[in-house]
Amino acid sequence: MDHDELAHWSKRAADWARDYHAGLRDRPVRPDLAPGDFRKLIDAPVPEQPEAIETIFDDFARLVPDAMTHWQHPRFFAYFPANAAPVSMLAEQLANAMASQAMLWQTAPAANEMEALVVDWMRDALGLPADFTGTIHDSATTATFSAVTTMREKALGFQGIGEGLSGAPTLRIYASAQTHSSVDKAVRLSGIGQNNLVKVAGKPDDPRYSMDPAALDAAIRADLDAGHRPAGVVLATGGTAIGACDDIAACIDVARAHDLPTHVDAAWAGSAMICPEFRDLWAGVEKADSVVFNPHKWLGAQFDCSIQFLRDPGPQIQAMGLRPDYLQTPGADEIVNYNEWTLPLGRRFRALKIWFLLRSEGLTGLRSRIRNHVAWANEARDAIAALDGFEIVTEPILSLFSFAYRDDATTARLLDAVNRDGRIYLTQTTHAGRYVIRMQVGQFDVTREDVMMVPDVLNEIAGSLP
Ligand SMILES: *Cc1c(COP(=O)(O)O)cnc(C)c1O
Repeated sequence: MDHDELAHWSKRAADWARDYHAGLRDRPVRPDLAPGDFRKLIDAPVPEQPEAIETIFDDFARLVPDAMTHWQHPRFFAYFPANAAPVSMLAEQLANAMASQAMLWQTAPAANEMEALVVDWMRDALGLPADFTGTIHDSATTATFSAVTTMREKALGFQGIGEGLSGAPTLRIYASAQTHSSVDKAVRLSGIGQNNLVKVAGKPDDPRYSMDPAALDAAIRADLDAGHRPAGVVLATGGTAIGACDDIAACIDVARAHDLPTHVDAAWAGSAMICPEFRDLWAGVEKADSVVFNPHKWLGAQFDCSIQFLRDPGPQIQAMGLRPDYLQTPGADEIVNYNEWTLPLGRRFRALKIWFLLRSEGLTGLRSRIRNHVAWANEARDAIAALDGFEIVTEPILSLFSFAYRDDATTARLLDAVNRDGRIYLTQTTHAGRYVIRMQVGQFDVTREDVMMVPDVLNEIAGSLP
């Protein structure tokens, strides 16, 4: 394929995308397939001879969409959304066309300087103080790994990067049981070790499922007494299972009293902070050292796009950054080279989709979507609570809540039947030892009618369970 053909086929792809999107409501959100079904449709030996692009494109259109779970489907209520506003898809096409590597300032000056601008824009949009700067990662997992690795190095006086961890004191990281598995992954891969992630107990009967600041303080003191070295605290705003929000102000006060750095994981809920009325959920965040949120979840910047705000990037650069001869920019030692803030060297031009998104939608447009989602989730919660046999298990935090139908086994059977039906898509978690169904409202194209279909579908399928 040459670039003339690319232009032709890009138009075909754009037309296909429009039609695909227009037909989403008529598709099941999740296909009813068994593992291995799709491979059978496409299995073939590695191609020796070139094939016509028409054939490949037709095979794609014929086979692939029917075997996909449709994240842009308006009735996707599972996990968290991965919204791709059309304007962010356009920006991705342009970034793809230049196919640059934004690892150093000089390898992509516009990408580098636009990254600084859009991180500032997002910081201001979320109401974070002006002394935060930051960078764009692929995922919250990478951001949290970077933050935890930095905690490790701060605790070791930046000796771990040279000496390794053998002979180092036992480092301890503190988080609530509600934090995401990316925190477990970060302690494992940073060499701190799973057994040194202290899951702090929750506050009794707390409607936001916060960790207990007094328990955090006690855990740190006990570790100090035992000769361990506390290294940092990871807090959650909007945990994945049920939306748990730690009492950020109180927990950071405890961390600071012990001189420990803090990282706030707001991967999902961070987007809602463009609405000032939700900011009490993370009150105190301005005192954090690091905050991550994913514009690729609720906000509408096509995956992947995760922003980490940092009060002082210095320690992270010291922990993560390398500048070998071949990555130096002669005469510009002070320049920001974002690869030094993160794990990979090569980096995509992710700032472009945020620049397009914020300019095209404006915060006003993005806010009204999120406000609708929260309001509709509450309506759906009330309608489900009124159904026979259904019980709300965790109340809405923003647009996420959970419910059960009769007992654990029946709830699981109902979820399976609902997802095989395909009109809506929901997923499960456990809460306080119970199997529950999660529902979040957040897809970009969802309407109130789509949301209110959920109680109807649940009621109908529950009534027909064998
Ligand atoms: C989605 C999510 C993550 C992981 O995000 P990735 O960008 O997929 O790594 C981490 N924490 C929370 C609270 C999340 O919702």
